[in-house]
Amino acid sequence: MSDIRVRFAPSPTGYLHVGGARTALFNWLLARKQGGTFILRIEDTDVERSTQESVDAILQGMQWLGLDWDEGPFYQSDNFPLYKEYIQKLQDQGKAYKCYCSAEELEAKRELAMKEGRKPKYDGTCRCRADQPAGQPYVVRFRAPQEGSTSFDDLIKGTITFPNEELDDLIIQRTDGTPTYNFCVVIDDAIMRITTVIRGDDHVNNTPRQIQLYEALGFPVPQFAHVPMILGADKTRLSKRHGATSVIAYRDMGFLPEALVNYLVRLGWSHGDDEIFSREEMIQKFDIGNVGRSASVFNTDKLLWLNAHYIKTGDPARLAELLTPFLVERGINPHSGNPDLATVVKTLQERARTMIEMADGSLFYYRTPESYDAAALSKFTKEHLLAVYEAVALTLGKSTTQTAPEIDALFKELCAEKGWKMPQVGQPVRIALSGGTQAPGIGEIIATLGIQETVLRLDRVRDHILTCQ
Ligand code: GLU
Repeated sequence: MSDIRVRFAPSPTGYLHVGGARTALFNWLLARKQGGTFILRIEDTDVERSTQESVDAILQGMQWLGLDWDEGPFYQSDNFPLYKEYIQKLQDQGKAYKCYCSAEELEAKRELAMKEGRKPKYDGTCRCRADQPAGQPYVVRFRAPQEGSTSFDDLIKGTITFPNEELDDLIIQRTDGTPTYNFCVVIDDAIMRITTVIRGDDHVNNTPRQIQLYEALGFPVPQFAHVPMILGADKTRLSKRHGATSVIAYRDMGFLPEALVNYLVRLGWSHGDDEIFSREEMIQKFDIGNVGRSASVFNTDKLLWLNAHYIKTGDPARLAELLTPFLVERGINPHSGNPDLATVVKTLQERARTMIEMADGSLFYYRTPESYDAAALSKFTKEHLLAVYEAVALTLGKSTTQTAPEIDALFKELCAEKGWKMPQVGQPVRIALSGGTQAPGIGEIIATLGIQETVLRLDRVRDHILTCQ
């Protein structure tokens, strides 16, 4: 194992967002590539907004994507005594101080600064305060350096510098005694010996404050890599307005985890013109330095294209497993009898772009059609349909062939014998077996359904035609 230690640190205030999933993925890839350690930390210090439901949703999303962590999940809420200890330490060293300014006073000062065209910033009233008014509420502020600047070499964005005079004396403990977010992050990252912090670039402005805290506490400062945001098609930050943003929603829409992972890795990172990456290739080729500096636009069509690719090339037995809940949702237990689901999957892999399309496309294997596409049937005369169904039933009934190519060959022979063109036979049979015209090749359907079931369905459609047409 190398010394690389990275972490994904979601706040459990909602589901796992695709943006968060990509951050987790980049962390995971760096750890796997370098033989490092990937840590999961749940940042639940905002007690009011954090829920167990969100924690479960995040863990579920990570597991579904196959982003396994080596340590954790750790919960920030378990560390409150530790944060307190370090806040006290800073105070003892004179690096933090109690501030008794009330919210109203601060607001008035802020308004005055704005009015006078100054940047609103804490004016340091309590920095050197000698008295400590007993019984009065206070916050604890970090005594931030006033001069010079704070700089870091971001692995994605390059060098970023903030003049210290622009940085406030950060509140590290609220009046109710709870520590604030920027402080907890620093303590945790330091205690967990995180070497590289990869996170969304909405945290760039927090970074100089955090660096100052590392330095004040005597901790080594990690490297930082701030990943640009994901945008919707209208170039605003990706949100629900643009469609689904939750990882699990993509699962429920029939996307495969490998497709989403492949899509997310390419969202902001590139390796030449390569588009398709297996997990191993991704690990081998990933380089955080190759993540682009600009925001990326989420493109559902491309995700769909990748999903179709992974469905087409996927292992039928595994796809069958992933397909099962979609069929159960549609009232079908595919394991209660014929046909074998993996065989069904094989007939649909070429066409289906999502597991929903595959589930809908496989229903007819398990359910005799309740109705037939009347418009498609009306393209043929009643006489022709009856002749086709009778001839096909007869031919299949007599044959001992089982495989799709053999059955296709039988159809060819039949067409030659009767002077029919293949579509004149294929379409009516497809309608008889599936109810519609959107179905796999004839040989494949019949081989999967079995001759007996096929002949039963042909008899059924004949009855339908005789009574209805
Ligand atoms: N909890 C923060 C968030 O969800 C992440 C903080 C970090 O990665 O440093 O945005």
